Amino acid sequence: MRKVLAFDLGGTKFAFGVVNEDGSLLGSGRVETFADKGPAQACERVAEAAHRLLAELGLRPVDFVAIGIASPGPLDMARGCVDGSPNLPGWTGFSITEFLSNSFGGLPARIDNDCNAAALGEYRFGAGKGRKNVVYITVSTGIGGGAVIDGRLMRGANGNAAELGHIPLTMDGPSCGCGNPGCWEVYASGTAIARRTREALAAGRPSSILKFAGSLDQVTTHHLFQAMAEGDALANEIWAESINYLGRGLGAVINIFNPDVIVVGGGVTAAGDALFVPMRKSAAQYAFPRLSAVCSIVPAGLGGEVGVVGAAACALEGAQEK
Ligand SMILES: [Zn+2]
Repeated sequence: MRKVLAFDLGGTKFAFGVVNEDGSLLGSGRVETFADKGPAQACERVAEAAHRLLAELGLRPVDFVAIGIASPGPLDMARGCVDGSPNLPGWTGFSITEFLSNSFGGLPARIDNDCNAAALGEYRFGAGKGRKNVVYITVSTGIGGGAVIDGRLMRGANGNAAELGHIPLTMDGPSCGCGNPGCWEVYASGTAIARRTREALAAGRPSSILKFAGSLDQVTTHHLFQAMAEGDALANEIWAESINYLGRGLGAVINIFNPDVIVVGGGVTAAGDALFVPMRKSAAQYAFPRLSAVCSIVPAGLGGEVGVVGAAACALEGAQEK
């Protein structure tokens, strides 16, 4: 069975794994990124750790068809670099593909946006398996997206397609990391839900959320869920608003892509049915009925391995094209 050596670069962790062409993981590991110390150190560390894993598994670079790398965007795919990623300062211009290819016997290496890689991973091996039009959305620190349409990953003109978290919902909302006001992610990401909760509490609204969080700056979505379980009115109100914001964005996604399925991952999905049941209803409200009727909205299937498995899916696709 063909194998890919896959890497998932993040601002805090740099994960790696040996992935079979059926999506199964033979082994995996991770190192700290220490992003502010620059790319060369992080890449050296992850390559050393991956070499140790290969030795444990009795594998050599020649046993692999390719290297796949998933990374936060924006990317310069042709040169294999990140290009201005806010969580990877000082990394712009360093060719991660070249470094890792040289470290592993000259294996061909490709880099993809992490959410696009996740979309292809979920399409091939996860919750989108068997469907042709799969949109992946992650709701965590921000909102990221990727789309596989008619069975092909949509990369766009320079590999950065489907920045769905930056769909503008309002003209004059809170400012987003991208520089614009009112993006979807400044209302509906996990970070945004926690921020809106803190704002309501700071305005003096009574609630049991503070009891769970301890103090205002400790408040996360987890404390919101705890308060909701107690029937807290403010928690329920904020959650209902959040569902509405999530539904608006998903409605736009349905209207743009006409997907068979939207696969939703990220920390906020820990809420389970309390999220998915009302969110499906809300999304349907903001999309054309003919499009929403064929679109299911389901939890992600690949969990924490989505980055590594997605990177492998991208590299396998490249290897097939040859
Ligand atoms: Zn934005």
